[in-house]
Amino acid sequence: MKKRKKRAKKSEPQTITKAVTHIRLEATNPGKLTALDALAEVYLELTQQYTTLFCTDERPNGFRAPCFLTSLSERWHRVAIQHGAGIAKSWRSNRANAYQDYLDAQASYQEQQADGTLEEGTKEPEWSEWNVPTLRQPCIQANGNVMKLEEAKESTFDYWLKVSTLDKGNPLLIPVKLADYHKEQLTDPETGKRRKINRSVTLNRREETWWLTLTYDETIAVQTAPDAPVIGIDVGIANFVTTSDGKQFGTFNGRLRERQKRDREKRRRKAKLRKCLEKRGVLDAKKLPSTSSATGQRLMRHVRQSINRAVNLCFEEHEGCQFAYEQLSVASMRHKARAMNAYMRASNLAHIPDQITWNATKRGVQATRVKSAYSSQECQVCHYVDRKNRPNQGTFLCRVCGHTAHADRNAAENIASRLGDLELRARPYFAGYARCVLQKFAD
Ligand SMILES: [Zn+2]
Repeated sequence: MKKRKKRAKKSEPQTITKAVTHIRLEATNPGKLTALDALAEVYLELTQQYTTLFCTDERPNGFRAPCFLTSLSERWHRVAIQHGAGIAKSWRSNRANAYQDYLDAQASYQEQQADGTLEEGTKEPEWSEWNVPTLRQPCIQANGNVMKLEEAKESTFDYWLKVSTLDKGNPLLIPVKLADYHKEQLTDPETGKRRKINRSVTLNRREETWWLTLTYDETIAVQTAPDAPVIGIDVGIANFVTTSDGKQFGTFNGRLRERQKRDREKRRRKAKLRKCLEKRGVLDAKKLPSTSSATGQRLMRHVRQSINRAVNLCFEEHEGCQFAYEQLSVASMRHKARAMNAYMRASNLAHIPDQITWNATKRGVQATRVKSAYSSQECQVCHYVDRKNRPNQGTFLCRVCGHTAHADRNAAENIASRLGDLELRARPYFAGYARCVLQKFAD
């Protein structure tokens, strides 16, 4: 539940939003929580309606005019619309990525077919439409218009959560008691004062218990010394992170790749069975085995976790350094992701720079995005740029000076040297088609 805020310019303090989770709502008065249950039920239904609307018929729009009947107040109605729009937005972007991957896979299938290089038994990629998300667990993302946290004075509780309900003019007052570790988190260590809690709060019900999540903004100053050594980071699939000092962190190969293959096989088998059943006239679609994307999404989550671990470790092993990393463009992402299966592409690779940004911000470390165009084809020693400098995926071998290195490390070193370097113009081997690189650096 951590959110990144806008990227600040060099050395400006950055603000990040932090969450205080797992605050259990006290059941001092069961009637109050029952009223909350009743509210959540109506809210969930309405949020589902807007989620479905925004996933199918309309673009997600939190400001859309209300169009469903509900017993909720206007304010609550707006909260549900915004919540539904948020869910639909991320669903749509995930689906669009997956669909793009499908199109890519299909294009490459047709290419291979035309070339006659198609391996025997290769099936044409199929697209199975995603289901609209179903909201199961009661979750309320509310703003200050419908829920307010008020300090509880002369009480054993810390706050009252004032919730407007279905019963107009009769707000619920739910006591909130913080655990010691919540209090510690909410205390600014510099001033010793309680931090300012944001107006939006989240409530989740798991089993029979309601949990409250609060957030606050924290300002983090960049602590990196201006002359700190620069570490360049190259991101990729074989190695999620390769640094200019030759270290590697995390990989998609091995365990994750094996799982991806298994999942793909499983989906294929299911799709086959489905087709077979359809042919035989088993028409009840619900009884057909699903070819849903659930396994793919689970795998994606695991890939993201592996990426997070890799980036974390990279930062831990480079204390006192600053970083330069790739400004991944969609084009270079597609290039880098070519070897990957549909599900694993752009979204996950793009997660690496995002994770670098996030780690740098929360640690107060200077990290700068630099243009990465041709960083994999440029010689780190003489700066000659040529696609032929890469005899194979893992090797860099300069055709001019003979410099040889691990390809990712060479790229990482280029990225490191591009930090603040606008003198690339002066370099001798930037000629011919490499002029476009210069153009890219110039803007
Ligand atoms: Zn060279």
